[in-house]
Amino acid sequence: MARYTGADCRMCRREGEKLFLKGDRCFTEKCSVERRKYPAGQHGQRRGKLSDYGFQLREKQKVKNIYGVLEKQFRRYFEVASKRKGATGETLLQLLERRFDNVVFRMGFATNRTQARQFVGHGFFKVNGRAVNIPSFQVRPGDLVEVVEAKRNHPYIEENLAKAEHRGLPAWMEITPAARTGRITHIPAREEIPLDVQEQLVVELYSK
Ligand code: SF4
Repeated sequence: MARYTGADCRMCRREGEKLFLKGDRCFTEKCSVERRKYPAGQHGQRRGKLSDYGFQLREKQKVKNIYGVLEKQFRRYFEVASKRKGATGETLLQLLERRFDNVVFRMGFATNRTQARQFVGHGFFKVNGRAVNIPSFQVRPGDLVEVVEAKRNHPYIEENLAKAEHRGLPAWMEITPAARTGRITHIPAREEIPLDVQEQLVVELYSK
């Protein structure tokens, strides 16, 4: 279960925009992009204009970093998406959105995807009554996600759900906070995925 373990804010600074990787901190003045909107390092402020390839590469890195997956796995998602019917970029995002760690985050049980991944790995959840601790598990429409009995009143779960009320729930899922359960109602259409990325650039990059 490999994952990136470096500084999250560094990735946002590299892209020059907020990727919202940390949860609450991203909405405060402590956000590194608010303070220094240029890549970290000695030459961070001296980077020149991007080529077409550069734009495609940056967009791919952005999507990959938002979902916290490494290159090899991300490439696999693309290959699966490219074999399916429909727009490859949209299918790619749908596969990433249906990752278990992302679903847990979107439902509001976790404050960011890193925390969601940690909760999943630590056995906080069941899907359709069976324990699932694999962050990349693909949740299907109709699957019931629930917090296991022992973690139902965990302070983080309680706190995160309270905060999530303000954040709002995507239209493609429903949640019952008191029961600590949630369900995906349908596979999200592109406009239901709240992500400011140009997935077409990722498709162009990998299609070369
Ligand atoms: Fe990115 Fe959040 Fe760090 Fe800001 S606080 S740089 S949005 S991870």
